[in-house]
Amino acid sequence: MRSLTRTEAAERAALLTVESYTVDLDLTSGESGFRSSVTIRFRATPGSATFVELKPARLLAVRLNDAALDPATLAGNRLPLTGLRAENTLTVEAEMAYSNTGEGLHRFVDPADGETYLYAMSFLDDVQRIFAAFDQPDLKAPVTLAVTAPPKWTVAANGVPAREARDGRWEFAPTAPLATYFVSLIAGPYHSRHDEHDGVPLALYCRRSLAEHLDADADEIFTVTKACLDRFQELFGMRYPFGKYDQAFVPEFNAGAMENPGLVTIRDDYIFRSAVTDSQRELRATTIAHEMAHMWFGDLVTMRWWDDLWLNESFAEYMGTRVTAEATRFDRAWTTFGMRRKAWGYAADQRPSTHPVAPQEVADAAQALLNFDGISYAKGASVLRQLVAWVGDDAFLAGLRAYFDAHRFGNATLADLLAALSASSGRDLSGWAELWLRREQVNTVRAEVTVDGQGRYDEVVVVQTAPSTHPVLRPHRIGLGLYDRIGADVVLRERIEVDLDPSVDNGRTLVDRLHGQPAASLLLLNDGDLTFAKVRLDEASAAAVPAVLPGLADPLARAVLWGETTDAVRDAERPVADLVALILAALPVETEVIVVEDVLRLSRTLIDRYLEPVARPAALEHVAQACERLLAAAPAGGSLQLAAARGLIAASADTVRLAGWLNGKDVPAGLVVDADLRWALVYRLSVLGATGEPEIAGELAGDRSATGAEWAARCRAAVPDPAAKERAWQVIVADTSVSNRLVEANAEGFWQPEQADLTGPYVARYFAEMPAAARLRTAWVAERVANLAFPHYAVAASTRLAAAALLARDDLDPGLRRAVTDADDDLGRALTARG
Ligand SMILES: [Zn+2]
Repeated sequence: MRSLTRTEAAERAALLTVESYTVDLDLTSGESGFRSSVTIRFRATPGSATFVELKPARLLAVRLNDAALDPATLAGNRLPLTGLRAENTLTVEAEMAYSNTGEGLHRFVDPADGETYLYAMSFLDDVQRIFAAFDQPDLKAPVTLAVTAPPKWTVAANGVPAREARDGRWEFAPTAPLATYFVSLIAGPYHSRHDEHDGVPLALYCRRSLAEHLDADADEIFTVTKACLDRFQELFGMRYPFGKYDQAFVPEFNAGAMENPGLVTIRDDYIFRSAVTDSQRELRATTIAHEMAHMWFGDLVTMRWWDDLWLNESFAEYMGTRVTAEATRFDRAWTTFGMRRKAWGYAADQRPSTHPVAPQEVADAAQALLNFDGISYAKGASVLRQLVAWVGDDAFLAGLRAYFDAHRFGNATLADLLAALSASSGRDLSGWAELWLRREQVNTVRAEVTVDGQGRYDEVVVVQTAPSTHPVLRPHRIGLGLYDRIGADVVLRERIEVDLDPSVDNGRTLVDRLHGQPAASLLLLNDGDLTFAKVRLDEASAAAVPAVLPGLADPLARAVLWGETTDAVRDAERPVADLVALILAALPVETEVIVVEDVLRLSRTLIDRYLEPVARPAALEHVAQACERLLAAAPAGGSLQLAAARGLIAASADTVRLAGWLNGKDVPAGLVVDADLRWALVYRLSVLGATGEPEIAGELAGDRSATGAEWAARCRAAVPDPAAKERAWQVIVADTSVSNRLVEANAEGFWQPEQADLTGPYVARYFAEMPAAARLRTAWVAERVANLAFPHYAVAASTRLAAAALLARDDLDPGLRRAVTDADDDLGRALTARG
């Protein structure tokens, strides 16, 4: 099916004004699909022609004004409409299919109790899987929804109920004008909790089998929600614009969450059934704040076309992190952002597939989906943070308020936003926007230091460089932290802010005021993490890192240092051994759980790919030792202990110990070996070949949950057994009967660095079979599976040759092309590191 192009959307928007959607769904007609009826009232240029989109299982009847149209005229997902009048009424009736891919109306049967749950995900262009629509972001209209559901179900939607539900019939009041991609509903025997804040009704929903876990955390979730609501209304100078605020935790969700006005959908992995770390709670809070930011940014004012996707995501990412840090107990959210999100952004921005934060033009909706990456989220948010540092917070917020006022319930573009911010700040932002938003790739800032005979700075120069392929230097406002070692402590002497202005100094900024000052033990560039740039320390500071890092009190400064180290290893400027040595020196005394988790995650990728197989076990053993020491030092029952235990499990080759924990033997005091920790143990034992199908089946028998089913699939795919591998592979490349999540679980478990001999033949099979496999899947799932199932550990020139041959084809699914392009680039880096 053809994806709507930017040009087509602009042409249609010039012809049409949509006045309303009246939608009626019947969810009582079986397991495969539902009955959909929609009446669209719209104005048009008289005599013009256009089309409406839908993806039905069967199109039953179409009526435009007085005439019945032939359903057979549907071509792909487009139904032509001709002879339009000034005022039109279109009615489309169809049978639609439920999905198992998280798109359209997703149907899920809970293995825990057999109950059925539905939720709608209209995002991008999937409302047309639910009802016929003019499916583009700038044709907004009020939606009036009615649903017929089994009598015992609960139904919730964007709008409030118009009257009390009777006999399974639910009718909702018209919504404020919505972009079509925001239309949502949930239906099923959902468990709910209700509250109210400042006149806004609040609700939480989840599956019944998760009810006790939602109830346990409802206070925390409501507390975060209320605090964010207060803060956003204060910052934006405008009340929440969509009436009620429901948050539905739904199964098998592809994204973290979706900002449907009035009914946010969130992946129900955020309802915690097992012990979690505080960083996981923080992530849930940040997600809540991110989606709420969208209510203004994205929902109230919507981008005109997908090329301004970043307007939505960068702002929600920036504001979500900021409000989490400012208004909730998770006041370290910027450390998490610096550690986790920015690593994602830097990696994406250095790949061949990089693109500007704000691309000039996104040709069609399918292309837009590929831009949901570290650039649109993390880099865009970093760039906004840099903008705030540059124009000042008051001017930034004043500009936002003017932008909301001018475009409320409408659409806007980058130019509209820049105009508002320029007016409020009194600065011409066009040059800044050109360099930061329209040009891809990342700068590196490096300190060049000379010290005199008395140990005083002679010259400190901050040198900015750019890759030769994208030779663009940018204005940066960065912090420079001077840290001194005093005994075991590392003390911040001074933090100064420096403006790098390449138009004046061509990328070499002399920091005059440091001349004559005693040289610091550590001169930390980008201290405070205000800008988006790779950091390289001066030689003396770099040498001091192992001694200094453990004593640094500021977690954000530690995050910047860890980021610098992992990035230098990623660039093959430093060996993995340096990173492993730093982990041994600093991880056991780390107190910030996000730092522990992300150092382990980032270093594991490098160990698995950059080290020759012969060197890998020793490196993993060192990581395991660092985790063990952290585990011994961490408070019993806390987040650090859990993070250390997970790290130890993932790195350990001591199957006796792992099996012992599973049986309650020698478990550290305070550590609860609950359902998910048990699965982590079973998974590691599966990878190591120390457990197999009987144990996995036994574990699943004791955990009939959806999460248990995903874990079991992951474990089965990981067992080093030829038949198990082949079964998992068939799911990955051919099985559309299982859900998105189960396909992904198979792909996650399949490749293991320990199993290179066993999985060797599948390297060639990936490149041979994945093009057809990707076409079986929807765009979102195709890209994810293509990435997860890629032979990332087959670090060899032959793998790159196979990738090149695949990329030379002109018939690839765009998601597969993106996944292979990026993974191949990673392989190239790994090969360079191996020398
Ligand atoms: Zn978002």
